[in-house]
Amino acid sequence: VNNFELEDYLNRYLHITQYQDYTLNGLQIEGRPHVEKIICGVTASLALIEHAITEKTDAILVHHGYFWKGESPAITAIKKRRIKALLQNDINLYGYHLPLDGHTEVGNNALLAKLWRVEQAAPIAACDLVWSGEVDDLSCDDLSAVLSRSLQRQPLVIKGGKHRIRRLAWCSGAAQDYLEKAVRSGADAFISGEISERTYHEAKEYGIHYFAAGHHATERYGIQALGEHIRENIGIEYQFIDCPNPV
Ligand SMILES: [Zn+2]
Repeated sequence: VNNFELEDYLNRYLHITQYQDYTLNGLQIEGRPHVEKIICGVTASLALIEHAITEKTDAILVHHGYFWKGESPAITAIKKRRIKALLQNDINLYGYHLPLDGHTEVGNNALLAKLWRVEQAAPIAACDLVWSGEVDDLSCDDLSAVLSRSLQRQPLVIKGGKHRIRRLAWCSGAAQDYLEKAVRSGADAFISGEISERTYHEAKEYGIHYFAAGHHATERYGIQALGEHIRENIGIEYQFIDCPNPV
């Protein structure tokens, strides 16, 4: 498939115009025109690019690409090395950020709901990135065990007041500051990837259970599902490379 046609397809499938993102969604770095082989990963790190070079892939598809709002536009240091490697090897870089968290089929939050078997999982409001749903009456320890088993990573747990968890809210990545939204949605527990110092006090004062289950760990699923979707619908082969990240 042509690299720009692939971009058009993905932009439409992921409804990129519905999101106010702080990065670019779509083709971020243009490579060779013909795409037959793709590598998917969470972050466009140099390690992922090196995999793509070794595997002679035409394109890299990631959740965390480049050009974040607020960062310096200068192409120096790490950014220079990454972009140079992509350009020299004529590899396309596609990045899909918030659209890949919120999508109802291949989004990280939708896939976490399946992984944790949450019933009636849905965004708390139209297009909201925070999702909620019902679970089978779990204790804080039960939920912690579910998370470590399913994500292969021990979560950091701030225990809340309630003994049983029935209503769960979650948002992949660094969504610790959506804690209040989760509380307002009536959740007994909130799960995200990361945690800040302030999150501890906020969770304690709200009395909600908070689980920092890993930014990378909660965002591994969407990009793989998107690769699978491309394989099924466009017939391009993809490979998911999980560059481990404990954060
Ligand atoms: Zn993220």
